[in-house]
Amino acid sequence: MKLCVLGSGSEGNSILFQTRKACILIDSGFSAAEMEKRLSLAGYRPADIDAIFISHEHIDHIRSVKMLHEKYNISLFANRPTANEVRKIFKNNLKFHIFLTNRPFVFKDIVVEPFSVFHDAMEPVGFSIAYKNIKFSVATDLGFPSSGVKEKMKNSHFVVLESNHDEQMLLKSRRPHGLKKRILSRLGHLSNSSAGNLLQDICHQDLHKVILAHLSRECNSPQLAMETIRNIFTQNQNLSPDIEAACQDTVSEIYTL
Ligand SMILES: [Zn+2]
Ligand SMILES: [Zn+2]
Repeated sequence: MKLCVLGSGSEGNSILFQTRKACILIDSGFSAAEMEKRLSLAGYRPADIDAIFISHEHIDHIRSVKMLHEKYNISLFANRPTANEVRKIFKNNLKFHIFLTNRPFVFKDIVVEPFSVFHDAMEPVGFSIAYKNIKFSVATDLGFPSSGVKEKMKNSHFVVLESNHDEQMLLKSRRPHGLKKRILSRLGHLSNSSAGNLLQDICHQDLHKVILAHLSRECNSPQLAMETIRNIFTQNQNLSPDIEAACQDTVSEIYTL
């Protein structure tokens, strides 16, 4: 299994996941030209991609889905409310493979389980993907670390999780009051400390790697996010997984499990 975070943040999100038979993207939130560039940096061509699994309809997750679908014949997967919303956004009756939230489905050699998350979109999801005996989970936009999300992400070997902001930095920032309120709400984005608490609850001996995602440029930094979360593990004297932070501007290394 190979995984590469092609980029993550409010300007665009996409994760590449490859097994022996499947090569998929989770979201495609950069422009088509930028996706082509980033795929090439990771050593892939758009033609290698079988499908895009869409988490929700916010533009930083879907910017190039229509282009990539039309230009390279890449299949699109989403739940019905998200698919309908994406069609409206692109004013195009795009063809989707529809999945049901909280219902696992098989795609080539992987089993994909889209699970509900709290976020201000039609029916936003995270994904757990099982390949052989390896489990990978991703949740990049969620306002609240619910017990349902923890249940779906537990026993993962590899996790990509939102760690959007430091609460103090957000409160002190010059962002409009309404935006701060939205980000901090249960339908907004996950703070560093909430991400740490979630990770602590799902951590086990075989959680090899955690990549923090969707970091705010203005109200967070990779160092602060990683430090806050490592401190939560240390204070509670828990096992501490290997933690890294994904970038907005650059493609990650290729992780192999
Ligand atoms: Zn987002
Ligand atoms: Zn979002």
